[in-house]
Amino acid sequence: MRGTVKAVLGLAAGMAVQLSAMGQQLSPVEQQLVTEVHAHAPQALELLRQSVLINSGTMNHAGVRAVGKLFRDQLDELGFKTRWIDMPPDMRRAGHLLAERQGRQGKRLLLLGHMDTVFEPGSAVPAWEAAADGQHVRGQGVSDMKGGDVILVEALRALRRVGALDNTNIAVLLTGDEEEAGNPKSVSRGDMVELAKRSDVALSFESAIAGKDGKPAATVGRRSTAYFELEVKARQGHSMGVFGPGGYGAVYEAARILDTFRQQVAEPGLTFNPGVILGGTEVAFDSATSRGSAFGKTNVIANTVTVKGDLRYLDYPQRDRAQARMRAIVAQSLPGASAAIKFRDSYPPMAVTPGNLKVLDLYSRASQDAGLGPIGAVPPESRGAGDIQFAAPYVDSLDGLGASGEGAHSPNESLDTASIERNTIRAALLIYRLTR
Ligand SMILES: [Zn+2]
Repeated sequence: MRGTVKAVLGLAAGMAVQLSAMGQQLSPVEQQLVTEVHAHAPQALELLRQSVLINSGTMNHAGVRAVGKLFRDQLDELGFKTRWIDMPPDMRRAGHLLAERQGRQGKRLLLLGHMDTVFEPGSAVPAWEAAADGQHVRGQGVSDMKGGDVILVEALRALRRVGALDNTNIAVLLTGDEEEAGNPKSVSRGDMVELAKRSDVALSFESAIAGKDGKPAATVGRRSTAYFELEVKARQGHSMGVFGPGGYGAVYEAARILDTFRQQVAEPGLTFNPGVILGGTEVAFDSATSRGSAFGKTNVIANTVTVKGDLRYLDYPQRDRAQARMRAIVAQSLPGASAAIKFRDSYPPMAVTPGNLKVLDLYSRASQDAGLGPIGAVPPESRGAGDIQFAAPYVDSLDGLGASGEGAHSPNESLDTASIERNTIRAALLIYRLTR
């Protein structure tokens, strides 16, 4: 294992050439920041390796706490006040790590990461495996998102070493259950909401994904997650009378509603997906296991249909528009049928706001000034839900400041190792400029 790590660390030498071209647009302190990040690139990879070798599947609470201890030690060393936040025992989650420093200078920042991964103990996916090309590592949570956690910590370390943390106001929250957030969310994300309310800007270090053009990009918006439930009732009868005065039955009515949704409610950035449908004369669905049963006969007009689906929207006006249209369609019942639709919100949307775009602009300028090129915006619909959405309603927010990789949540999750240094430089410069 040691040998393979050395092979990976060897790439840091290759960065030197690139670095000499940087820096024309950077102040002397900013140039020092870049130098510090570069000098500590090997330690950053070693910290990543250590954190990845600790299994921290969301349900492996001891593992999540051990990863927390590793990062807590780092943040203690950097002069942060750290504490572990426990969750209520019946929530069955490990808790969160909070690190804070108080000051009065510049913007008040909230930096977000998560310690858990989707890989539970016993996963067949190797914990850490250096690729033969010397430029990638494969492993559990390398890019989602221990790479991002390391970037967060190393950016702060560089800032500390040049004395740029003095008098800044920064809170770091690493959650222990991002991949499967504990319920109720008002409790599992209550601390995050409170921290957001007393911050100006939130930065999240989830993996960096490319924009539509394949160029570097960051995330200025993430869509909500929400759910809908459609219940259809209809008059039961003999199948031979299906187009008669008795009515069309629940299955035709459900088909009408869903297809009209598809044709009339869809708009850019909005999706709704009926994930499961059950129809007949006796229907039962168990939400806990996401399984159900249906009984019906071909010669009987069905009296019941139940549909469960998700609904993802960019912002609340889009949600309200969609829900109003869906309700109107549901109300136009076929003869003999009636239907009701219910909606439930889960993750709030991180709407694309002018404030978020301003933070992206700062990030992009920092990257260009460092010679690392501009940063575009990831389309909100090409990312799933993430923790920052709980903070975004209260602060200007930017996500995707973490490491670049591929195959998150899959056996082939991998990391572009050079992205650790590159994105640490970008993050350190952004934090520096925000806190001046
Ligand atoms: Zn993640």
